[in-house]
Amino acid sequence: MTDTEQLTRELDELETAAKAYDAQHEFIEDFAWPEGTQIAVNFTCDFDTMLFRRYLEETPMQLAQGEFGGRVGIWRLIELFSGNDVTATIFTPGRICELYPQSLVAAHKAGFEIADHMWEHHVPKDMQLEHDHIQKSTSALENTVGKRPIGTRSRHTNSLLLEEGYIYNSHGSAAHLPYYERDADGENCMINLPFHYAIDDAMFFSFAWLSSENAAQRITDPNRVLDLWWDAFDQQYRQGGYLNICLHPFVSGRAMRIEMLDRLIARMKTRPGVWFPSCETVARYCLGTFPAKEG
Ligand SMILES: [Zn+2]
Repeated sequence: MTDTEQLTRELDELETAAKAYDAQHEFIEDFAWPEGTQIAVNFTCDFDTMLFRRYLEETPMQLAQGEFGGRVGIWRLIELFSGNDVTATIFTPGRICELYPQSLVAAHKAGFEIADHMWEHHVPKDMQLEHDHIQKSTSALENTVGKRPIGTRSRHTNSLLLEEGYIYNSHGSAAHLPYYERDADGENCMINLPFHYAIDDAMFFSFAWLSSENAAQRITDPNRVLDLWWDAFDQQYRQGGYLNICLHPFVSGRAMRIEMLDRLIARMKTRPGVWFPSCETVARYCLGTFPAKEG
């Protein structure tokens, strides 16, 4: 093959990949919140406790760190959000129902949304097993709090999620506003509520996150994170945008971070038109007001 032929082939492959990406993503034009709302802020908690660490075969100290989230952190977050009239969304792996059911019941009773975060914090490659995991997690959450989840934070296949009654996902960061995403074949559309790592507590506070080496350890001053997240909020506020702040009970459940979040929410509330709904409410608003063009 000549250099020119090789280049043509590579360009064709790039074009095919770009077309596949386009077929999977649909961004909403002229997006706007309801009258009187300038920004929607979703406070979301990924209730991982030790499951993710166990899956990664992390050390006993990391597992213990996760346990704190289930025993203490989640309760502090429930109190924080209740006290501030913030309707948080708790993305919960199904297995957590066996470990910390009382906290889920309390969160549900406090008016928070309980959503799915995979059965054991991973998506099996085999599709039949994947479907089994979705069904197990959905039933566990429904049996624990008495309400079937309709949202997920996962890389599960849309066709399976839609079959089980899910209406939205919250992962990825292809845009700063909610957008539509389809399966790899361009079918099965779902609304996605994006978040990104700069508004994820684990990036700043989680010691040895994902088995990182000492040099990559993250114990950031909460005041520094307060400044960063305030700037993120302010920038989105000015353009009528969206913020999906991702917290983990084993990370943000520490007292100094709860106190920082309390100050952040109080500061957000000094602005008019700040909305703190559940992810379900945001998803239903988007689906109803800006439906997908097809599918
Ligand atoms: Zn997680």
